[in-house]
Amino acid sequence: MRSIRKNSPGRRNTETSGDVLADARLLAHRLRRLHGDVSARELAQIFGIEISRDSWRVADGRLIYFAECSFDPPKIILNAEAIELVARLAADCLVEDERRWFTSSQITEVVVAHELYHILARQSSSPAVEPAANEFARIFTGTPFSPSRYEMVLRRRVGSTRRSSLPHLASF
Ligand SMILES: [Zn+2]
Repeated sequence: MRSIRKNSPGRRNTETSGDVLADARLLAHRLRRLHGDVSARELAQIFGIEISRDSWRVADGRLIYFAECSFDPPKIILNAEAIELVARLAADCLVEDERRWFTSSQITEVVVAHELYHILARQSSSPAVEPAANEFARIFTGTPFSPSRYEMVLRRRVGSTRRSSLPHLASF
């Protein structure tokens, strides 16, 4: 759901988004302390969150998602096509020590962690919430960069196929 009320810029707004980020970090650390060295997929299982894989088209002129989730029942649906595409692209364009963060299994782990944040924090996807979901996923998985980098790779690939069109939005 994407019903977002735009906040006017200002100090209060900045503090609010800072709080959301800080809460996301705390949640990631707390879950690590409580559950030890589990994967995001195992954590989903612990919380009774079903994960399924689907493929929906990574097409020009469309919103692209790595995954989507629902709260009731708690469920994550992975977009296997988008995940595989970014993994394939990384094999061509990244230096060797970065590639291990771009395997489809590693991307899946980060995407699942991102969606877990939405479900566990009960925060629907929105421009204000996405940085918090990415921060949660970065800390929980130990990824050395923001997961938004996966979105950038996907967006660049899709954007390169039709440069004249409006910018494509990739999201989780
Ligand atoms: Zn998200």
